[in-house]
Amino acid sequence: MKITDRIKRIPPYIFATIDEKKSEAIAKGIDVIDLGIGDPDLPTPKVIVDALVKSVQNPATHDYPPYQGTLSFREAVAAWYKDRFNVDLNPNDEVVSLIGSKEGIAHAFLTFLDPGDVAILPDPGYPVYKVNTLIAGGVPFMVPVKEENGFQMDLNSIPEDIRQKANMLFINYPNNPTGAVATDEHLQEVVDFGLKYNILICMDLAYSEVNYDGYVPKSILEFKGAKDIAIEFHSLSKSFNMTGWRIGMAVGNKEAVQALGKIKTNVDSGIFKAIQEAGIVALQNYKSICGDQNDRLAKRRDIIVNGLNDLGWNLESPKATYYIWAPVPEGMKSQDFTISLLESTGILVVPGTGYGPCGEGYFRISITTPEEKLHAAVKRLKEHNITYKKG
Ligand SMILES: *Cc1c(COP(=O)(O)O)cnc(C)c1O
Repeated sequence: MKITDRIKRIPPYIFATIDEKKSEAIAKGIDVIDLGIGDPDLPTPKVIVDALVKSVQNPATHDYPPYQGTLSFREAVAAWYKDRFNVDLNPNDEVVSLIGSKEGIAHAFLTFLDPGDVAILPDPGYPVYKVNTLIAGGVPFMVPVKEENGFQMDLNSIPEDIRQKANMLFINYPNNPTGAVATDEHLQEVVDFGLKYNILICMDLAYSEVNYDGYVPKSILEFKGAKDIAIEFHSLSKSFNMTGWRIGMAVGNKEAVQALGKIKTNVDSGIFKAIQEAGIVALQNYKSICGDQNDRLAKRRDIIVNGLNDLGWNLESPKATYYIWAPVPEGMKSQDFTISLLESTGILVVPGTGYGPCGEGYFRISITTPEEKLHAAVKRLKEHNITYKKG
């Protein structure tokens, strides 16, 4: 049996490795508090579940769905974009449904990269971008995103030959893993860069509805010229606690959306119609659903940020996402810190290097865990005297 080089090039998925470490710890009798994976612990809201139950009883939902998504789902996406971002989308050709945005992101690289083509990607960043660039035979050009730039890409650092060659540039705000949000200036600058060098701008907006303290994340499509050069990937997973349902959408430039849709027509057969009906209900009720949820998440965020700050960290509270991106204690490496933390306290966090070499020196905490557990984690850190500064 031959396994292709394409598959051999793929490093183990970071969360598979972390799951293994977790199992090992549990086998040793350690009581693990998992602050690793960003998978919401809260259930999908009842209105959404009820909509699914009702739809699934209608035999008309049981056949193959349209590849690009049902018209009613695409219309709901367009209506939501209008209401939420004041962006106009034509549901006929500027919206395509995705089996979760990870699926769409993965297929985007096959759609927009020929072998040898360059994709400009953030480091640290969501690992799916780099791996799928490699699967498509593309060449990732990693741009360090640094704390001093608010974890935004310094476009000036991208060499001229890369600008000329690149076909795609991926950004993700609100950001996983850093919890950073983008300034308006940066988003406009990215759009202008794409227009100038004819590089497709890909925006991953998975966390737009997970936000705090009145901060309202923007769509890239709100910026001047974006429709000419940008595609945006969105997901119901994080906003509505629907990770297991597999529903998302790509929207934006018509040519890009249609090209992505063409791959999908030949690879998958769309999302179960009943799930799309439930997705419509989710989008129609986003204000009440996301508002309640964010109030709960903000309390969790405060427990961790205040807890770490009491122990010598000096963190600002993230304005969005589930993530707290914190420096490891002085003098330690990310991986060593996370392993020793797990062994000594049973707390599982993700080493920053899981998101790229420039994640060195950081670790990521996810707040997808109930408040009691977060309090317990902070208590354990105090008991074990885990502090940011030595001595
Ligand atoms: C979770 C996540 C996604 C993918 O979510 P889906 O469940 O596939 O829709 C995409 N991008 C980022 C940055 C994520 O964290």
